Amino acid sequence: MKVVELLRNDGKPNVSYEIVPPKRGGSVSDILDIIEQLMPYEPPFVDVTSHSAQIYYEEQQDGSWRRHIKRKRPGTLGLCAAIKGRFGIETVPHLLCKGFTREESEDALIELNYLGIQNVMALRGDDSGFKKPVIGDRTRNEYAVDLVRQISAMNSGHFLEELIDAAPTDFCVGVAGYPEKHFEAPNINWDISNLKTKIDAGAEYVTTQMFFDNKAFIDFESRCRQAGLTAPIIPGLKVLTSKRQLQTLPSRFYMQIPEELASEIEAAREEDVPEIGIRWAIKQCEELVSEGFSNLHFYIIQTPQHVSKVVKELRKRA
Ligand code: FAD
Repeated sequence: MKVVELLRNDGKPNVSYEIVPPKRGGSVSDILDIIEQLMPYEPPFVDVTSHSAQIYYEEQQDGSWRRHIKRKRPGTLGLCAAIKGRFGIETVPHLLCKGFTREESEDALIELNYLGIQNVMALRGDDSGFKKPVIGDRTRNEYAVDLVRQISAMNSGHFLEELIDAAPTDFCVGVAGYPEKHFEAPNINWDISNLKTKIDAGAEYVTTQMFFDNKAFIDFESRCRQAGLTAPIIPGLKVLTSKRQLQTLPSRFYMQIPEELASEIEAAREEDVPEIGIRWAIKQCEELVSEGFSNLHFYIIQTPQHVSKVVKELRKRA
C-alpha cells in the first residue's frame, strides 16, 4: 500500500518510524530487533534512511575527471525488502540526489519496483563532496525536485533511455519539509515555495524535520496551506535522551529546543533526561493529535525503548 493510503485522521495516534541502516560491519539483525520491538504498536510504515557514498573527483591531465568512491554506506534497499518480507509492513527507502547519478537512481527505483516497494522519500541529501555536476554521460539531480521529476517520469513510463518492456512504475513519493526553515533558505516562505514545487512535480506527502516546539509546526502547516499546498504533512518528532543533544541536535538539524525543555534538562541529572524527553514527547503528541494531526513520525536512530514508552502511553490514553 502507499503511504498516503495508510494515513488516518480518526483522532488516534498513527505512528510511523525512521531507522538508520547499520554501518558496514554492523548487524542487520539489530535493526530487525528494533522493528520487532515496535510491531506491537502497529506502525503503518517504516522509513529507512540513505547515506551517500563519500565521493571525490580527480582532474586528469587531459582535463577529464575521474570519479573515486572513498566509503560506501549500503543497506537501504535490502533492509526495506527484509523488513517488508519479515514483518509485512510497508517500508519507505530514502533516495538521495547527492552522491548518486540519475542512472544509479533509476537502477535503484527499478530494483524497488521489482521488490514490490511502492513508496520512496526523495531527498537532496547533504554535501558529500560530489562536486562535478556532469561527468561524461552521467548526470545527477541537483535538488530533490529533480529527483521527484525523474520518479514522476518513470511513473508515466519515461525512463532515461528507451527501454524494451519497461512498464510504468507506480511510486508514492514523499519529500522533506522544515518547520523552522531549511538552513540554506533565505526565509521560510521561499523554502515553502520550493516545497510546493516538489508537490507540484508529483510528490504526494511531506514529512518534516524534527521539532520540539509544536507552535513552529502549526505555523508552518498553516503557511503551507496558505501557499496552496494541500498534500498531507506528517510531523517529525524525536525523544530527547541526553544533555549532549541540547547542542548536537540544533547544530546538526538546524532546529531550536524550547527554553522550557532545555532548562529542565540542564538542571536534571543525566540519568533523568530520558524521562523528561519522554514526558515532553507525550505532551507534544497529545497536543498535535488534538489539533488534528493524528499521523506522527518518530526518528529513532538506534534505540527504540524511549519511543516505545511514548507510543505505549499514547495508546493507553487514546
Ligand atoms: P531540497 O528540497 O532540494 O532543498 C534544499 C534547499 O534548496 C532548500 O533550502 C530549498 O529551499 C532550496 N531549493 C530547493 N529547490 C531549489 C531551486 N530550484 N533553486 C534554489 N534553491 C532551491 N539526509 C540524508 O542524507 N539521508 C536521509 O535519509 C535523510 N532523510 C531525511 C528525512 C527527512 C524527513 C528530512 C526532513 C531530512 C532528511 N535528510 C536526509 C536531510 C536532507 O537530505 C537535508 O536536509 C538536505 O540538506 C535537504 O534535502 P531536501 O530534500 O529538503 O532538499
